[in-house]
Amino acid sequence: MPASGRPWLVAQSDRERQAAGGCGGTGRSPVNARPGHGSAAGAAGSGAHKTNTVLADGRELIYFDEPANHADRTKILDRRVLPTSHPSSTLRLDRILDEWVAIAGHRQTRTYLPPDSECPLCPSNSTHLSEIPATDYDVVVFENRFPSFSLGSWVIDEVDNSGANNDDGLFTTEPGFGRCEVVCFTSDHDAAFSSLTPARVRTVIDAWVDRTEELSRNPKIEQVFCFENRGEEIGVTLSHPHGQIYGYPYITPRTKQMLASARTHADATGRNLFADVVTAETQSGERVVVQSSCWTAFVPFAARWPLEVHLYPNRQVPDLPSLTEEERADLSRVYLEVLRRMEAVYDDSLPYIAAWHQAPVRVDRDLAYLHLEVFSIRRAPGKLKYLAGSESAMGAFVNDVLPEEAAKLLRSVTPDIADLIADAEEYGAAQYGQLP
Ligand SMILES: [Zn+2]
Repeated sequence: MPASGRPWLVAQSDRERQAAGGCGGTGRSPVNARPGHGSAAGAAGSGAHKTNTVLADGRELIYFDEPANHADRTKILDRRVLPTSHPSSTLRLDRILDEWVAIAGHRQTRTYLPPDSECPLCPSNSTHLSEIPATDYDVVVFENRFPSFSLGSWVIDEVDNSGANNDDGLFTTEPGFGRCEVVCFTSDHDAAFSSLTPARVRTVIDAWVDRTEELSRNPKIEQVFCFENRGEEIGVTLSHPHGQIYGYPYITPRTKQMLASARTHADATGRNLFADVVTAETQSGERVVVQSSCWTAFVPFAARWPLEVHLYPNRQVPDLPSLTEEERADLSRVYLEVLRRMEAVYDDSLPYIAAWHQAPVRVDRDLAYLHLEVFSIRRAPGKLKYLAGSESAMGAFVNDVLPEEAAKLLRSVTPDIADLIADAEEYGAAQYGQLP
């Protein structure tokens, strides 16, 4: 398909390079590789310097410093007096849907929209001691003080069900083992992910890779989920730019459902379902929003949300640690462009959720295909889509926006991406797309 008719697609020469293995290829065997097993491009492998420290209540905090700002963090102490952290959560099994629900009552006391001067994610200063003891930082990851899951969890469910017949496990509980981490993208309180530099996004990717590998090594964790909730409308309790990482002790319902579809497709065709979707979306072009030598972003055919974009590497890999250096660098630019296009659609703030789908740690890694799902509940300036009866109760989505119209809108906006093009040139990458 000639690129000329679809100016947002990469130049034909780039497509040919990609077909010839221009992106990826030299990385470790992607599909069968398990995370945490000696990736040469592993934690902080591209230049970010990692320093592990401990907070006053025993929680872990890790600095990811870029080379230019590399400081000795080992002597920085958390000067707060905090009670030792004893988070606990319980899993209860919903036998009707066969899904686990985490019950974490202690989260009710978590910090809720504090004034800027008391932001727990800003660096510490002479008048305010925050969660981050340093006076400046690049990217920081630390254990959530109010986690939904914790490796120190034990069953605290004291409800007395002894009068009922539980022979069939109708009241099954388990400890809420797992890990919840906070990722601060920048020390700048007023920034947003979309305003970061490609170099900073690259450091965030390093942190995600490091944490995915580390958490995957824990025998109690079955799936690692990196995500960002953005905007008060989504329910964000802190406005400082940050994301989260959950290490679940089970495979989540959505992932189970995706893998079941992929297995059915593989049994019928011998091919990977996600790979077939990426190929078909590329061939159609109707819903493609951005395409680069390593990544393809499109509005899904059956989008559930008014603004929804899925971003896939052009090569099937199970998770973030399996990406090559070139794919990570290209991701930093394409991710920023996707967010900036989404934010340019409405003359209003854009609440969104950005969610990384990674393969489970131990099973079905050959069926899975790493991808990012970004969606917004904004359906018009000043208007939100709420999950009401059909969606919340029946899981049956109704979307008022035609996915092809959403894609057209996302292609037609003109966000500032000069820094992304300059970064690609500086990095020596192939020309960064053919953009409008
Ligand atoms: Zn802040």
